[in-house]
Amino acid sequence: ADAIVLATGGVGRLWKQTTNPDVATGDGLAMAYRTGASVENLAYIQFHPTALASLSPRPFLISEAVRGVGAVLLDDEGLAAWNTACRVAKEKGEEQPSPAPFSFTLQYTPDGSLATRDIVARAIDQQMKKLGTAHVHLITSHLNLPWQDKFPTIARRLKDEGLELGSDPIPVVPAAHYMVGGIRVDDIGRAYLHGTRTIMPHLYAIGEVACTGMHGANRLASNSLLEAVVYAQRVAQHLIQHPPPPYEGIHPAWRADGLGALREHAPINHDRTSLVRTMTEEVGIVRSNQRLKRAQRRLNLLHDEVDLMWKTARPTREIVELRNLCIIGQLVVNDALSRTENRGLHYNVDLIRDDTHESGTPASD
Ligand SMILES: Cc1cc2nc3c(=O)[nH]c(=O)nc-3n(C[C@H](O)[C@H](O)[C@H](O)COP(=O)(O)OP(=O)(O)OC[C@H]3O[C@@H](n4cnc5c(N)ncnc54)[C@H](O)[C@@H]3O)c2cc1C
Repeated sequence: ADAIVLATGGVGRLWKQTTNPDVATGDGLAMAYRTGASVENLAYIQFHPTALASLSPRPFLISEAVRGVGAVLLDDEGLAAWNTACRVAKEKGEEQPSPAPFSFTLQYTPDGSLATRDIVARAIDQQMKKLGTAHVHLITSHLNLPWQDKFPTIARRLKDEGLELGSDPIPVVPAAHYMVGGIRVDDIGRAYLHGTRTIMPHLYAIGEVACTGMHGANRLASNSLLEAVVYAQRVAQHLIQHPPPPYEGIHPAWRADGLGALREHAPINHDRTSLVRTMTEEVGIVRSNQRLKRAQRRLNLLHDEVDLMWKTARPTREIVELRNLCIIGQLVVNDALSRTENRGLHYNVDLIRDDTHESGTPASD
């Protein structure tokens, strides 16, 4: 083809908890990287703070609008304390107290449960690590609202899980949601060559796979149309008005010739589990130098294993996805380790917090 437009979406499947579909394995991003395209800002991964903590492999999103109408986040201790306060108030014939003052989020931000997505996700992550719990609770029972009318899909989905919106504490957990970085493109969606501001004449990227710079370091909610629709229109317009020159590159020979099918699939499953576990435990919302370096060492080993599999077996979807996920995982870690300041969605406890956009100083390992 004379022009290739990548629109392959994000890479949420690198993390155990994600809102993304099965296909979000970074295939287009990895292909572009191997072709020599510039891939930037992968440290900026947005986590949605309140995915339903269920056993389903694809968590269900509890919209931020639920907190917008007054729902409050409590940890186990906060929930117990609020329940006690409610019981005491009832015994005294007083009004039920609000759960808001019992929220752990107040330890992190005066805005409590209503703070922005990144701050709430970070607060939940830190609190879960501190208490060793697998989720926190979203409380809605203090609100007198027509839940079925206001949030019919959420109410229905919770019912499937045996939970009543407006009554039961809802177990929630942050989940990988949006890849802010990606293939660096110019303002009409043309990819840059790695390490340069030279346009690659045949490669375009739109949507989540593109790094347009539109989201800065911290995407606002409900803003994906910017990279999807606006850039799709710009690329289409550009291709119509300026058709690219004929592609004259030489394609490598189809590499599967002469290769046999993989004899065992267990190593692929094992390596993918190990990759996702490393990303979830070491490269999540709150990072540290030590965790990132541990992840880097593990991913380098995994990369060698996967590469061996890739070179000796006929490609299958499983091998292709694992190989791509592994490369993107390494790029996320490397980008995170290269940063000398905390900005937007990248937060490393070993860096000095810097909201003034001046460079922070990296602390020792
Ligand atoms: C649960 C959820 C709720 C969201 N809510 C909002 C919202 O309210 N507002 C908002 O603005 N954004 C929202 N987003 C984000 C938004 O949906 C995505 O950012 C957006 O859909 C990305 O569009 P895209 O076209 O770039 O990629 P996608 O919509 O992810 O499409 C990628 C396509 O590429 C295909 N593909 C991938 N790999 C391959 C391959 N190897 N071969 C062939 N095809 C491939 C996939 O099958 C898919 O069709 C939400 C996301 C999720 C997951």
